[in-house]
Amino acid sequence: MGKTAYIGIGSNLGDAVGEVKRAMEALEALPLSRLEASSSLFRTAPVDAGGDDFINAVVQLSSTYTAHELLTRLQEIEAAAGRERPYRNAPRTLDLDLLLYGDECIDMPTLQVPHPRMTERAFVLIPLLQLDPFVSIPGKGPAHEFVARVSDQRISKISAP
Ligand code: ADP
Ligand code: MG
Repeated sequence: MGKTAYIGIGSNLGDAVGEVKRAMEALEALPLSRLEASSSLFRTAPVDAGGDDFINAVVQLSSTYTAHELLTRLQEIEAAAGRERPYRNAPRTLDLDLLLYGDECIDMPTLQVPHPRMTERAFVLIPLLQLDPFVSIPGKGPAHEFVARVSDQRISKISAP
């Protein structure tokens, strides 16, 4: 059913592990979507952001929302987690990014898909490739080709598998 969406999850404020797990449950509970797979949780160094280490993961959904509808659902889940945006790149209780949505390429002020900075971020690429080692980024090519460029970014798996 539907299109394959990959959602990047991140938290570096409060109970970050709990926030990421709760976000996975909220994504699993979305109508018009099915949770197909969840990556491990990873501990990562902040990139362009303040505060403590992040906890990151990626999930794969199959969804019949439009991309914009799905973004709205993600923002509702962020808001429910108490996310505030006091300044750009501030520490956040929960960040949900729509990384890929099928083969869609969207470039609007409110939504860019594929997420424009995903190829520069180990905390996106490593969990994404765990879910699909052959996943391709529309307009950019196979995700695994970008991994060598982010090898200086600290990332370690904290949960099975
Ligand atoms: P960031 O994730 O870059 O740290 P925010 O989560 O505060 O920053 O998002 C800022 C804005 O990014 C949102 O208001 C949203 O409209 C926009 N945006 C554009 N493309 C995407 C995307 N693919 N996923 C999530 N948000 C996006
Ligand atoms: Mg975001």
